[in-house]
Amino acid sequence: MAVERTLSIIKPDAVAKNVIGKIYSRFEDNGLKIIAARMIHLSRQEAEGFYAVHRERPFFKDLVEFMISGPVMVQVLEGEGAVLKNRDLMGATDPKQAAPGTIRADFAQSIDANAVHGSDAPETAAVEIAYFFPALNVYSR
Ligand code: UDP
Repeated sequence: MAVERTLSIIKPDAVAKNVIGKIYSRFEDNGLKIIAARMIHLSRQEAEGFYAVHRERPFFKDLVEFMISGPVMVQVLEGEGAVLKNRDLMGATDPKQAAPGTIRADFAQSIDANAVHGSDAPETAAVEIAYFFPALNVYSR
């Protein structure tokens, strides 16, 4: 399987719960390397831009409000099949549907405060990585 990169965001609910380290361990224990990271408090414009594909969805306004409600931790993960591996580790969008042992099953409250974001395909990952890390200094090893 090819080595890939994916964008991960630890959302405001999980940052507030103080579980960044626990979530990072899930990545590291499953062969994903954190090769770039920054903590940011998104502006409304940045959150709307990031979720532009969801602009017409009924949950868009609430999603943006949630994403700007506190700081987020944004990272690039690298590893074999990183995109799908991260999606597997995250679990289903709705934590009630998420498999036991996944990040969302263990740390998320609800479908809107669901602890993490992960790119859904390599093409999306490239766009999302460039959105947060326009000049990416990576420390791949
Ligand atoms: N979301 C929501 N209500 C919904 C569906 C999605 O608040 O009914 C939010 C949720 O935070 C989710 C994000 O919108 O993570 C993006 O939705 P998507 O379907 O892309 O889910 P994901 O890829 O994050 O699992």
